[in-house]
Amino acid sequence: MNFHKKSLEQTTELQPIERTKPSIDEARNAVKTLIRWAGDNPSREGLIETPDRVLKAYAEWFRGYEEDPSEILKKTFGEIEKYSHPVTLHDIPFESYCEHHMAPIIGTVSISYIPNGRVVGISKLARLVDTFSKRLQVQEKMTAQIAQSIYDCLQPKGVAVCVRGDHHCMCTRGVNKKGISMITHSFLGEFLNDKNLRSEFNAALEK
Ligand SMILES: [Zn+2]
Repeated sequence: MNFHKKSLEQTTELQPIERTKPSIDEARNAVKTLIRWAGDNPSREGLIETPDRVLKAYAEWFRGYEEDPSEILKKTFGEIEKYSHPVTLHDIPFESYCEHHMAPIIGTVSISYIPNGRVVGISKLARLVDTFSKRLQVQEKMTAQIAQSIYDCLQPKGVAVCVRGDHHCMCTRGVNKKGISMITHSFLGEFLNDKNLRSEFNAALEK
């Protein structure tokens, strides 16, 4: 069985989502409505240009919907002298938005993969983190998506991903608890089967 091919078929949700985009006026009016909902007047001087600024900010915060992970990971390099140990990127910063409250999730992603003859430029892994974080997200889902896309596109021997996130929907409202980080993991391939590899990955995160 070609495991990588099978897993690729299982992850069609990694593709950008088809959607009908509202007009710019609809989007502006939605922001004005939320300003009124918050209790302010969208026509006062300080807020008059806010809807346009919010739309510009949204284009940055949610640009991940426009990006294709397989395009980012397409270019690989094979001249690696049979290097076959884990390649680990530690603490790639990310900002995302929880899909339940649209509040920021701020944190870091650490990624390790065991090459199967080819490697990818490390900046591409950082871009991949942006592709999945610049969307409305659930941290567990983002962790799995990052791991699965590397596994499918690079076809390495194994992938490990650890995400550490601070959820502003929890520290600025609701239970209002500050200083709590959520940690999620995804292990695929050899990382799933080899406890020592997982321990080495987790130990590297402590350093
Ligand atoms: Zn939330």
